[in-house]
Amino acid sequence: MRQLTFLAPGRLEWQDVPAPRILSAGDALVRPISVARCDLDLYIACGLVKYPGPFAFGHETIAEVVECGDAVGFTPGTRVAVPFQLSCGRCANCRRGLTNSCEAYPFGAAYGLKPTSGREFGGALSDLMYVPFADHMLVPLPKGIDPVVAASAPDNIADGWRAVASHLKERPGGSVLVIGGLAQSVGLYAAGCAVALGAGRVLYLDDDAARRDRAAALGAAADELALDEGRAPEEQFDGVVEAAGDEASLAFAVRSTAPNGVLTSVAIHLTATTAIPLTRAYYKGFTFHTSRVNSRTELPGVLSCLECGSLHPQHVTSRVTSFSEAIEAMTDPGPKVIFVAEKTGGSA
Ligand SMILES: [Zn+2]
Ligand SMILES: [Zn+2]
Repeated sequence: MRQLTFLAPGRLEWQDVPAPRILSAGDALVRPISVARCDLDLYIACGLVKYPGPFAFGHETIAEVVECGDAVGFTPGTRVAVPFQLSCGRCANCRRGLTNSCEAYPFGAAYGLKPTSGREFGGALSDLMYVPFADHMLVPLPKGIDPVVAASAPDNIADGWRAVASHLKERPGGSVLVIGGLAQSVGLYAAGCAVALGAGRVLYLDDDAARRDRAAALGAAADELALDEGRAPEEQFDGVVEAAGDEASLAFAVRSTAPNGVLTSVAIHLTATTAIPLTRAYYKGFTFHTSRVNSRTELPGVLSCLECGSLHPQHVTSRVTSFSEAIEAMTDPGPKVIFVAEKTGGSA
């Protein structure tokens, strides 16, 4: 089968590789229908984030079940969201919802990101993907949801979702500030999720005018980010999402978090250390959260929000293209590129 393989920065290649096979009764094989470029993929592809190749590329996908082991309840043809992290659903961490660190797999185990765990699990820009623990892993795509619209649900939308959903549940109608930037689509999805979940005020700050327009289309108020060291922001927010990935923005995020609020950093800060103004944080008192998303745990909430029609991730999508354009389109500067699989008619 064909597989998009990352070799080195600026070097992606379609390779012919052996197709995966069912190995045990709980396995499934799925065929990706739509694949979204993760914010991280852009930076790996262009070399800003240094991951050593070769490895299978792509990890946000809506797929179709092709074949199942005897113990799997899915019917071939069913459309499913595939969590990008592998998890068993049975271990202590999975039972607590911590599917980003399932004990059945090496830490960081994920599709399309071999360097995060050291183990190759295949990628989404392929004809087929191997899915173990399929009854636990795969989440059915609700009827009527366009696989292109939902393509990013298994990672970047889920990441934006978890940055706002739990504290808006605790504080219905709370205010949310998103500082956009490096994690381009995650910041926008966080703003869209906050609007969808009924936040009282959603402000999106970003120096990029095109992303501000997308945030406005999602229903957020959007403005330029005026970083002024030392000056107190005009407003403080119950929930703040920092997607910018730089120290000045993180400091602004700390200043903008209300006492007893929640600050979530979804950007991957690329410097070895990042200063946090802890004295201010101490006196104010807030929760600071940063981690990889728990993809499997968050997916059902994301999909039901899409189904109820209040979340519109299509406003983040900057380009829809085919698998065959993936190498060129992988470094497109827009916030979200979605690749649609051509009908191949076979897995060979
Ligand atoms: Zn990702
Ligand atoms: Zn597990």
